[in-house]
Amino acid sequence: MTKEEAKKRIEKLKSEINHHRYIYHVLDRQEISDAALDSLKHELYELEQQYPDLITSDSPTQRVGGEPLAKFAKIKHRQPMLSIEDVFSFEELKKWQERIAKLAPRARLDYFAEVKMDGLALSLVYKNGILLSAATRGDGKTGEDITRNIKTIEAIPLRLINLDKIKNPPQYIEIRGEVFMSKKVFEKLNKEQEKKNEKKFANPRNAAAGSVRQLDPKITASRQLNFYGYDLIDDLGQKTHQQSHELIKQIGIPINPLFAHCKNLGEVEDFYKKTQKQRDGLDYWIDGIVVNVNDIDLLKKLGVVGKTRRGMVAYKFPAEQATTIVENVSFNVGRTGVLTPVADLKPVLIGGTIVSRATLHNIDEIKRLGIKIGDTVILEKAGDVIPKVIQVLPKLRTGREKEIKIPDKCLICGSKIERKKAEVAIYCSNKNCFAVQFRKINHFVKAMAIDGLGPKIIEQLMNEGLISNPADIYELEKGDLEPLERFGEKSAQNIIEAIDKSRKINLADFIYALGIRHVGEETAFALANYFAELPKITSASIEGLQKVPDIGSIVAQSIYDYFQDRKNLELIDKLLKQIKIEKTEKAKQTLAGKSFVLTGSLDSMARDEAKTMIRKLGGDISSSVSKKTDYVVAGSEPGSKFDKAKKLGVKIINENEFLKMIK
Ligand code: ZN
Repeated sequence: MTKEEAKKRIEKLKSEINHHRYIYHVLDRQEISDAALDSLKHELYELEQQYPDLITSDSPTQRVGGEPLAKFAKIKHRQPMLSIEDVFSFEELKKWQERIAKLAPRARLDYFAEVKMDGLALSLVYKNGILLSAATRGDGKTGEDITRNIKTIEAIPLRLINLDKIKNPPQYIEIRGEVFMSKKVFEKLNKEQEKKNEKKFANPRNAAAGSVRQLDPKITASRQLNFYGYDLIDDLGQKTHQQSHELIKQIGIPINPLFAHCKNLGEVEDFYKKTQKQRDGLDYWIDGIVVNVNDIDLLKKLGVVGKTRRGMVAYKFPAEQATTIVENVSFNVGRTGVLTPVADLKPVLIGGTIVSRATLHNIDEIKRLGIKIGDTVILEKAGDVIPKVIQVLPKLRTGREKEIKIPDKCLICGSKIERKKAEVAIYCSNKNCFAVQFRKINHFVKAMAIDGLGPKIIEQLMNEGLISNPADIYELEKGDLEPLERFGEKSAQNIIEAIDKSRKINLADFIYALGIRHVGEETAFALANYFAELPKITSASIEGLQKVPDIGSIVAQSIYDYFQDRKNLELIDKLLKQIKIEKTEKAKQTLAGKSFVLTGSLDSMARDEAKTMIRKLGGDISSSVSKKTDYVVAGSEPGSKFDKAKKLGVKIINENEFLKMIK
């Protein structure tokens, strides 16, 4: 993306995010999920990180929480209440750590990790140990005074305890934490709302926020809210974030029991995975963990960027929805000849894995979604289900989106497309379309030695519309495979690794993999050896091809025809974007012009290997001995060729002599 394009995208994202904020906070409605909105915010944040001079003060990334409502008195925070930057993967977490390490190269980093509750942030200020005020985050500088309501929450003490055990306690002690509602209460509350024909709460955060911002404290009291403290603003002698937690508990405020002191990011990841497993069993919602640089001095030194602390990060659990861009739509043919439209997506992290494709099912679904190529869409991956596009965000269009053209010819074989009456599906009229393509892919996979990608799986991937040509294999992401039948996390991972391994290949194997008619392994090898570079082969004339040893006119014609076909060249272009042909040093032609015959078996290598070696060095192999034969290589138990060579006076060499020759 160019800077100009990024600028336009940033503007579009800002207005889209603001629109959703507006309807959420002012109109109390929600058009898209929190996860989808988070995804848009994250894209905006990443773009702004890439082009920091495009950050404007009105950007949603520069904002904390919501503005205070007029119905409450305002409280100016003693210190700004910042928000936390989100990361969604371990890779992003490592990048966060690398940024810190650059700013504090000598620091020994350790972390305090705690669960991130899905509630409402609250600031409590105690004066001489007595609760003075409670405020929402508001815009980060000024919050709403909800002290009266907060006093109804049993978990929050009106007077701190054990202050006599602290040396010189300050007059004001501020604690920050999270007000939250239990799942049970949330469900009960929504049932009651339904009965009263009132609007249900979209999520527990919403419900907790609505409950503390009541004008009547009795309503707040009825909502059975709870509170956990997580930050101590004033100095009670704490040196680490962990000690802050201990002190908060000591002075009488509950803390969440789920936390871990982590010596490195590996331990953070362990805690993340552990809490992710515990998540459903908890009586309150958590949506990730918060990772803090444990050393408070260092945390302060690292400072603030925008409205977030550098030394803190929220490591969110995988969301089931995310936004991404439709880069193309292809039509893949399945076994029954049905063409399935499939969206090629800008790879996106969803449900914990990266996904690059989503089926659009059929033409009616394309119409229903109103989807175009280039659109930003909301993708959903709930549980083990194949990801699907659920909504288009048309306001993010630039005007350069393209209509999806329903093909009138099969994109794979060029045959006519048919649509049966009363069916939404379109078909390729060529009954062999699938079978031919299947054979091509199967041959390719074998030649590239991609382990685990057997014929059954290839057929399955073709039927799901995930692949329709060999190049598609290299665009598969783990998340595309995982939800498929017979697949699990491990098998998906194994196949992706096997595919990655095949991204480096030598020229001969690559040519063989293309499946050109009459080009077997030996011919592919001869071509690679003679031309050394792919462009020289694709542009060779028939005469040029015939100069290659052992290539006659029929084979030359077949190779020539293959590289004249535009479709084949497109496939090669696509493949070369994904795989790298390694330069094979052209072996010195030390055996050029010499002809060999092999007889008997060799100890150090199979006969085929010996043949390959001879050919590589420019020698010729013959199956029978004649006067023209230069050498007969005699292994153990040689056959009649040995006797014939003797008769004709052809030079006979043993295995050792041969090995010296090819060294
Ligand atoms: Zn076809």
